[in-house]
Amino acid sequence: MRLNFHQPSPDALHGTQSGPLRPDWGDQWAELTCTTCGAGWVGPIGEQCAWCDLALERQRQWQAELVLRPPEVDQDDEHYQARMTAWRGRLRRAVEAGLIDERQAHHAFLRAQGERAA
Ligand SMILES: [Zn+2]
Repeated sequence: MRLNFHQPSPDALHGTQSGPLRPDWGDQWAELTCTTCGAGWVGPIGEQCAWCDLALERQRQWQAELVLRPPEVDQDDEHYQARMTAWRGRLRRAVEAGLIDERQAHHAFLRAQGERAA
């Protein structure tokens, strides 16, 4: 089995029938191959690929962690305000995209300002 965790698309994370039906496992169960990562398993035809689901969830977590990290800029840097404004825009877009929620964005921004004021 070959696993290939490249940018999985949510639309393609399912197993297509690649072998015989397996009525010994269940009605409409078959040998499946994931159209995205090439993983193989026995399951209901069209079942979501657990490996791709996990890879996609990890990718979302990494992206959320990345966007929640404040810019590395000193408060007395001449570009401080511009970089914080740009970060606030990235946080807003991440909320709109459903990557993080409003509370996480708000908390990260306040925490960054609090750490810099201290
Ligand atoms: Zn897969």
